[in-house]
Amino acid sequence: MKLKLNLLALILTMATFLFAQEAVIPKPNQFTKGSGTFSLDQNCTLVFNKYNADAVRIAGFFGEYLENLYALKLKTNGTGKTIQFKILDSPDLGKEGYQLKVDENAVVISANAPNGLFYGMQTLKQLLPVEPTNGKLSVPAMEIKDQQRFAWRGNMLDVGRHFFPVSFIKKYIDILAMYKINTFHWHLTEDQGWRIEIKKYPLLTETGHWRDETMLGHYSDQKYDGIGYGGFYTQDQAREIVRYAAERYITVVPEIEMPGHAGGALAAYPQLGCTGGPYEVKKSWGVHKDVFCAGKDETLDFLKNVLDEVMEIFPSQFIHIGGDECPKDAWKLCDACQKRIKDNGLKDEHQLQSWFITRMDEYLTQKGRRLIGWDEILEGGLAPQATVMSWRGIKGGIEAAKQKHDVVMTPTDFMYIDYYQSRDKENEPLAIGGFLPVERVYEYEPIPTELTADEAKYIMGVQSNLWTEYVATTKKAEYMLLPRLQAQAEVSWTNKELKDFAGFEKRLETDYKRLEKLGINYRDHRKK
Ligand SMILES: [Zn+2]
Repeated sequence: MKLKLNLLALILTMATFLFAQEAVIPKPNQFTKGSGTFSLDQNCTLVFNKYNADAVRIAGFFGEYLENLYALKLKTNGTGKTIQFKILDSPDLGKEGYQLKVDENAVVISANAPNGLFYGMQTLKQLLPVEPTNGKLSVPAMEIKDQQRFAWRGNMLDVGRHFFPVSFIKKYIDILAMYKINTFHWHLTEDQGWRIEIKKYPLLTETGHWRDETMLGHYSDQKYDGIGYGGFYTQDQAREIVRYAAERYITVVPEIEMPGHAGGALAAYPQLGCTGGPYEVKKSWGVHKDVFCAGKDETLDFLKNVLDEVMEIFPSQFIHIGGDECPKDAWKLCDACQKRIKDNGLKDEHQLQSWFITRMDEYLTQKGRRLIGWDEILEGGLAPQATVMSWRGIKGGIEAAKQKHDVVMTPTDFMYIDYYQSRDKENEPLAIGGFLPVERVYEYEPIPTELTADEAKYIMGVQSNLWTEYVATTKKAEYMLLPRLQAQAEVSWTNKELKDFAGFEKRLETDYKRLEKLGINYRDHRKK
């Protein structure tokens, strides 16, 4: 009988161990199993350096999580079992690495920098069972030593096509942080609306944010809803988002689109276009031919003034200037643009775009920042300091890396999470098109085989993009984001040889339960 009980206990321990190991996303890079379990209850004390603001905040996040999910409040002074948050001199862990040790008496998270400590805390949250088993929150003994694969682990949200309130942007950032994403690319200006207050140009958010109506269904249907739509962030709100993200070790990279996707700005200030307008804030999706005039000095001055205010709000090293999908029709017919081409000995309108982006590159570089843009900025020659986001496949990324420019990989085939998640499109909410199930995101390998080891160093990382033509609500945004974000997070963080989709799927099952408890929507990938 005794033997049987022991056996049962062993099986239970193994089950708990499996459960725990199956819970962390992205998968940790080094994991060693220990013996015994740590039981988290009201007798535990949270231990952290009370004079270190980061440690106080990170331990605070953990305390809040326990209170919200389990109604458990821990002491910060006491004896006995401890959960320790430590920032120690441990250079081998770098800025984002951490170590997590669990034995029967203590959980110790240590890191070389606050970023790593925060990630260790996120891992510990995921190691806790979603529901206490027999009233107990147990974590099996283990040791994790973990560090990121890529430095840039990004996600982009388009707030131009649809606007999302500050409260949701914060929730969105919390979701990114759960999976150790460290870059939030905020797509702030579009043909369909300008979304950030610029004090020098008040019309951008008086009229430039507002469209008269919005396209319904697909472009081919040509139907409109007849309802005015708009919204924008004040500079104070944007600063609040920057601060909120920074507390979660996420950098906000703002995007101000130029020279294309300028409908919102041109509607407010028509003199910045080639014809002088009038222009409207666009009601339909797609690529529009109204773009900033590259021939007028006034347009360049406008954009530099906008960037000045943007740089004041956003401390990010990188400033995204778009650069994609700029039809050259208007430039071909514009005297100012043609004069610019002639005066600068340029060959054509593609070189004019390159000239234009190079002026912005010089401006940002001179201010101590770095320009990043979509891969069209390669056409007509890459600006000297530019970083490239490779979206039209991986060709642009390969080309830029070979030219020794930094690259973020975000190819449509693997990272465009506005695509359908099922082939059964009839039973899915309307999406732009395509088919990108979570498996496909997961199988992506960001380092192209075409690159040498030296060239591969220019691949800074990976990013998923959520364009919102067909995403009008926060619930749908979450549905499109999850679980593809988890897959991308694992591509971005976990070493290639440790990736394993079957294991990932098991961990997702636990993750779904946690999301439900947190009130976050997702698409269950088991539904085909
Ligand atoms: Zn022009």
